[in-house]
Amino acid sequence: MTLKPHEQELINQVQTGLCIGGVWQPSSTGATFDVQDPATGEVIKTIADATVDDALRALEAAVTAQEAWAETSTRGRSNILRRAFDLLMDRHEDFALLISIEMGKPISEARAEVTYGGEFLRWFSEEAVRVRGDYRPTPEGAGNIVVSHLPVGPTYFITPWNFPLAMATRKIAPALAAGCTVVIKPAELTPLTTIFLVQLLEEAGLPAGVVNVVPTTSPADQSSALLKDARLKKLSFTGSTPVGVKLLEAAAQNVLRTSMELGGNAPFIVFEDADLDRAVEGVLLAKFRNIGQACTAANRIIVHESIADTFAQRVSDRVAQMKIGRGAEESTDIGALVDGRAVAKAERLVADAVATGATVLTGGKSIEGPGSYFEPTVLDRLSPNSALMSEEIFGPVLGIIRFTNEEEAVKIANDTDYGLVSYVFTENVHCGQRMIEKLQTGMMGLNTGLISNAAAPFGGVKQSGIGREGGFEGISEFLSTKYTLIPR
Ligand code: NAD
Repeated sequence: MTLKPHEQELINQVQTGLCIGGVWQPSSTGATFDVQDPATGEVIKTIADATVDDALRALEAAVTAQEAWAETSTRGRSNILRRAFDLLMDRHEDFALLISIEMGKPISEARAEVTYGGEFLRWFSEEAVRVRGDYRPTPEGAGNIVVSHLPVGPTYFITPWNFPLAMATRKIAPALAAGCTVVIKPAELTPLTTIFLVQLLEEAGLPAGVVNVVPTTSPADQSSALLKDARLKKLSFTGSTPVGVKLLEAAAQNVLRTSMELGGNAPFIVFEDADLDRAVEGVLLAKFRNIGQACTAANRIIVHESIADTFAQRVSDRVAQMKIGRGAEESTDIGALVDGRAVAKAERLVADAVATGATVLTGGKSIEGPGSYFEPTVLDRLSPNSALMSEEIFGPVLGIIRFTNEEEAVKIANDTDYGLVSYVFTENVHCGQRMIEKLQTGMMGLNTGLISNAAAPFGGVKQSGIGREGGFEGISEFLSTKYTLIPR
């Protein structure tokens, strides 16, 4: 199936080049790469493939723009972010369609991503003018301490494919608010949304060189060159933990400031006293949003044995009714996975779960192409040894494991190197409070399966990352604290 005329028209509006210093341009070698629609496998656009030299020129442009951008009044920076938010809301449907076409998620969820992603532009347009310092006398009375927060300087962003807009705005908005310039490398599977966003930022009045975009099929070479360059002052990465570890090692050579938003393996605990209606809705959202391809996706469904049969049946009945199809179609609940590797991973994890004792209640198979589809799947009676318990699934596969008491539930939940988010369903406020303290995650949803909000500090503990994005905390990732002593 080829693109519909209005879809083709939209894709035609997206630039094919790199944006360096405000100039859209081909790669220095003329190299290009193809972007596909995962629902059909068809090439939808061919864009410039940045070389290391291009990336270094992008850093140069960010360095050149840094001083003037930092000196731009906070109100001036805030106004640009606010205009970008307004423009994005005007183009809400275009961005949603573009996201859905290039990464496969259902259009309703792509709309939700535009709303969520846009909120970072609005939130940080408000935060830009609220950066505060501090002034305090020394205890001895001999002078005063002035604490200021200054922009860290040129930053480098690497973003994943699963939320191509929101993962970009969650970094770009606070950086711009703080007075930092940017080089961004979107995921090679989904570069179009980021390119379109940079076009929108230009239209909002962002000066040349403040945000530069350099998609590439050689991310390791690009990051290695940029991280060695002392002019770069900050790396912010969202992606898998193994890549994050490599980047941290490279960043250490220059003692570079880093923010890391990495993988997750979220426990979803349903206690005996949970409101089952809520828990069923919660797990459908936490597991199947984005076709399971979210760092916040519920990975291990840990259910009290007394309610597990009922819960499993109700979830499985709902999942069996989900409609599979191209994300851009209104009726689709489950779109295509991002590529064939994602399908192969889901196949492997389901086969392993069954081999270690799980029962398939619904789904369990991939679907013949074109496009990379996997049936939404519910597995019951998962073994603690199955790979589903330790690996990030990143697909529409839900596995239920049973527990008998609170201590056991907490032990299972914390038995992972990840610590991004946990979900807890209970009507007992004391149990809920205990979970806040006992679950080793940076975020928790109490009786809800969706926790993302621009006003909240998003981030993990353990191997899920370092730093926070969004909330009041988000801007401080791009500010460095300086203290000055002024004697009396
Ligand atoms: P990935 O780590 O494979 O890729 C992420 C980005 O890193 C891409 O832009 C890719 O091109 C780039 N990259 C890959 N290898 C690189 C290298 N050697 N050097 C530099 N850059 C490199 O992850 P993905 O498959 O795109 O995304 C899924 C992962 O992202 C999951 O683990 C998910 O949990 C995580 N994620 C985390 C959050 C969060 O906020 N914690 C949000 C979304 C996704």
